[in-house]
Amino acid sequence: MNRDEALLHVKPHLTEKRFEHTIRVADTALSLAEKYGVSKEQAELAAIFHDYAKYRPVAELRRWVESSYLPKDLLQYHHELWHGPVGSMLIELEYGIHDQDVKSAIYYHTTGRKDMSPLELVLFVADYIEPGRQFPGLDEVRQMAKLDLVKSAWMISRNTINFLMSKNQPIYPDTFYAYNDLTNKVYGGF
Ligand code: GDP
Ligand code: FE
Ligand code: FE
Repeated sequence: MNRDEALLHVKPHLTEKRFEHTIRVADTALSLAEKYGVSKEQAELAAIFHDYAKYRPVAELRRWVESSYLPKDLLQYHHELWHGPVGSMLIELEYGIHDQDVKSAIYYHTTGRKDMSPLELVLFVADYIEPGRQFPGLDEVRQMAKLDLVKSAWMISRNTINFLMSKNQPIYPDTFYAYNDLTNKVYGGF
């Protein structure tokens, strides 16, 4: 599926702002893919569909988790965590996208996980640093993304956990697994 086709498919499922975010994530993912030797086709496709399920009603997302192979522990956590896993499943069901690398980049784009693939890292970082976002600490991550993809993903993972803890929010296990794994990769374990 090419870029324009993919964009036409996702557009009706997103708000105008989210569609613009999606385009910026796709452009950011493309440039990271180029820089770090990741497939540009896979990075672009994953980016275009990454928030595909974000505006499904919560009750529908819940039904997809309950009735599929997705892990039931998701239901114990905030519904914001469901759109990646459900989206990765729906693009296969609805568009016949069977590419497991693309699916898993979408699946883990919110939390990360242990041992992320280069494609997963590209989407995880692109979603966070796309030029439409602005919050404290982001410029530091943007600079790092030009130098070291793994270290920039580590910063994102650390920032996300810090943010969630400051709001007294529960943290999904994969979010911690990503942080621990990236910390070992950046700082060399013990
Ligand atoms: P978006 O879909 O482009 O807005 O971005 P994401 O899919 O990356 O993130 C959606 C939200 O999930 C963000 O506000 C994150 O802070 C939040 N988030 C990420 N990891 C966790 C987690 O482990 N637990 C909870 N409760 N929220 C998380
Ligand atoms: Fe998302
Ligand atoms: Fe996003």
